[in-house]
Formats: sequence, structure tokens, C-alpha cells
Amino acid sequence: MSSPNKIVVIGGGIGGLTVALALLRRGLDVELHEQSTELKEVGAGIQISSNGTRVLYALGLEEALRRVQVIPSRREIRHWSTGETWNWFELGATSVQRYGTPHIMMHRGDLHGILADAVRRLKPDALALGKRCVAVTQSAEHVAVRFETGEIVEAAFAIGADGIHSKVRECLFGADQPEFTGCVAWRGLVPMERLPPRIAQMLGTNWLGPRAHVLHYPVRRGELMNFISLVERDDWRVESWMVEGTTDELANDFCDWHPDVHAIIRNIEVPFKWALMVRPPMACWTKGRISLLGDACHPTLPFLGQGGVMAIEDAYVVAACLQKFFTDPAMAFARYEEIRRDRTAAVVRKSHENRKQAFSPALADKDEVAASVVRDWQQVRVKERLDWLYQYDATSVAI
Ligand SMILES: Cc1cc2nc3c(=O)[nH]c(=O)nc-3n(C[C@H](O)[C@H](O)[C@H](O)COP(=O)(O)OP(=O)(O)OC[C@H]3O[C@@H](n4cnc5c(N)ncnc54)[C@H](O)[C@@H]3O)c2cc1C
Repeated sequence: MSSPNKIVVIGGGIGGLTVALALLRRGLDVELHEQSTELKEVGAGIQISSNGTRVLYALGLEEALRRVQVIPSRREIRHWSTGETWNWFELGATSVQRYGTPHIMMHRGDLHGILADAVRRLKPDALALGKRCVAVTQSAEHVAVRFETGEIVEAAFAIGADGIHSKVRECLFGADQPEFTGCVAWRGLVPMERLPPRIAQMLGTNWLGPRAHVLHYPVRRGELMNFISLVERDDWRVESWMVEGTTDELANDFCDWHPDVHAIIRNIEVPFKWALMVRPPMACWTKGRISLLGDACHPTLPFLGQGGVMAIEDAYVVAACLQKFFTDPAMAFARYEEIRRDRTAAVVRKSHENRKQAFSPALADKDEVAASVVRDWQQVRVKERLDWLYQYDATSVAI
């Protein structure tokens, strides 16, 4: 399968599918290779802030998103043991007014399905499944991607969108050296009808506590509640969503916490756990005709909820650069990297810094939570913390 004008994308996650769609919409030929034999995302939620929906709307997905998304009214903060509640900031119409497009909450599988359908509408055979990339090489004229099956695909360019354990990154730059943060993330979904009305609300809730943080928000038209918690633990080092835990183990990590947190935990059928690792931002992530996007080049801790959104922004920008500089391979990816390097590095760094704010031992003191809400989470700090993120317009920087 060789074509002088084809672009090969490796990895069919949110980043890979978004870039395939963005390239096809620009009239470029794409083939995406995903290692799984079935195209699906993990059963979990994802928040797409306004900077992400701006891109998804530009790719023509507004209507499809509307059928499954939740637009939350606001975010609130709760005290880990007393349950005391503070309004944090408004979302809903306020986000649209402030940033132009909404902040939405979704089931990952729904977003994934919308992207895959949109790709297939433009090119029915664009997605190849059961294709695990084992090597990428290149010459001055083309790239060659080798798969576990022994098959080799040649193309004009390759984009590694193969996530945190990227094979493409390893081929270009060697093995990385992740550092364990001492934190483990839990995730799970609960049917909304199993929760009491005071919890089953169309808003995002962050629980502040001394050695852990809990976040829950509605997804899939409000039919499911997505639960995420981040807890200090050093006995788990596997960086993968494929590992099941038990609700007893999860409940044990939050044994002193408010009954509302436990009302969610005990209704999670299977919780999954992921060890959070940190990697410093890469100075560059392109070699010649091969580049990376999303978690493959800037894996980001979840303390800003931006890893997936960065992959979406990357996808739009790299597609625009490839269209503009298709006949100048050195320029195409160089321009993409130039546009994206500082922003993604800032997001990686800020997400790491936010970890300290999300939970500190001082929050064990009852009064310290209230003081922290005023000091760290009040409106002016929210603007400082979020405006630079949400105002960014990937659809206009990529010219
Ligand atoms: C607890 C938690 C909560 C989060 N919440 C949010 C949030 O609310 N909002 C947000 O924006 N981000 C969030 N993130 C981050 C987000 O999940 C990731 O940044 C995002 O999934 C990255 O997308 P990606 O397409 O780059 O990689 P991935 O989603 O990892 O996709 C990579 C794809 O490549 C495939 N692949 C891998 N290797 C190969 C190979 N060798 N050959 C072929 N295919 C291959 C994989 O099977 C997979 O389909 C969160 C992360 C965590 C841990």
C-alpha cells in the first residue's frame, strides 16, 4: 500500500481520529492504523473546554456533539469531610459568552464514535484496525511504517498519535524516562438513577481534601455520572486504564470522606486505576517527515483537564500546516511544532504545578479548606488559571 501523497496516522484515539478528520476535510489523503481490533475508547468521561469545542465545531461536529454532550451549569467545590459547598465558577451560557463555544462533558466512547463516523463519511476505508506499528523509518522521499503483521506501508508523511507509550516516539527519540508522581487516578461510571438527587446534578463537583482530590460530572445526556479521583499512593506503578481495581480498595482510599463521595463509589461497578507519571516537555518531536501529536509528545497530568484537548488542538494545527506546506516537508512539521511547542509545554508544567494545589496536607484542617477556596480558587484566580487556556484559538493560529 504505497501512495506518494498519503499521510499515515498511527493510533486511533481522540488525537488520531481528530487529525484524520482535519486532514480529510482539507482534501488530503489519510490512512489511520489502530492496534486494537475494535475501535473504542475506555468507558470514562472527558471534559472538553471551550478551546477544544472551538476546534470540534470548526470540524463540523457541533450537531453530533449536541446529541450526547452535557453542558454543565457550573463547577462547585466541596469540603472532603463536612461536605460544605462553594460555587466555584459558572459554565453554561457564561462560557459561551466569554469564550465563544461551550465547555462540555462527554462519555469518551461517544466522542470517539462521533469522530470515527465523521472520518468514515469522508473516506469509508480510512481506518485500518488490528494494525500495531512496530517501527517507522524514512528516506528523503517517503516514510515506511512497519506493522506487527509484517506489512509495510509507505507514505509522504507519518503522524504518531499513539499515546503515552508511543512506539513512534521511541523510534524517533529512544525510550523515555517517566517519573512516578506518587499519585494514582481512579475512574468509574455510575448510572445517574442510582444516585440521590442532591448528587445527580448537571454540574461539575471538585472535592478538596488533604491527600486526595475527587471530581465528578455528568456525561451522555446526563444518564451517567463520571467519577475520577486522584490519591497519593506509592504502591501502584502501572500507567494504563486497563487495570481493574475493586470498589473496596477505592472506598478504602477515601475512608474518612463525606458520605456523598461513598454514595458514588459504592455504585461504581468496576473502578479502574492508573498510576500518574510525569515527563518533562520535549524540546522537539519531529524528525523529517515524521511527527507526533497528543500524549505521544506531551503527556499531561489530569490536573487541568487538558490532555485530550491539547491533542485536538494539535490535530487542527498540524493538518493546516501539512496542507500549506505539503511540498516542503521540512517546513510542514517545523511550523506545526513552532506553533504548538510553548503552549503544550505550559500546559504540561501548569498541570504538574496544580497537583500541589489540588491536595495538600494542610487541607486536613477544616478551616484551611475554606481559606484555600478564597485564596486559590476564587474568581480572579480562576481567570488567571483558565483564560489563557480557554481563549486560545487553534483554528486561527494555524495560518
Ligand atoms: C484520570 C484522567 C482524566 C483525564 N481527563 C481529561 C479531561 O477531562 N479532558 C482532557 O482533555 N483530557 C483528559 N485526560 C487526558 C486525556 O485522556 C489524554 O490526553 C488523551 O486521551 C490523549 O489522546 P491521544 O489520542 O493522544 O492518545 P490515546 O487516547 O492514548 O490514543 C492512542 C491510541 O493509539 C493506539 N496505539 C498505541 N500504540 C499503538 C501502536 N504501536 N500501533 C497502533 N496503534 C497504537 C492506542 O490503542 C490508542 O487507540 C485525562 C487523563 C487522565 C489520566
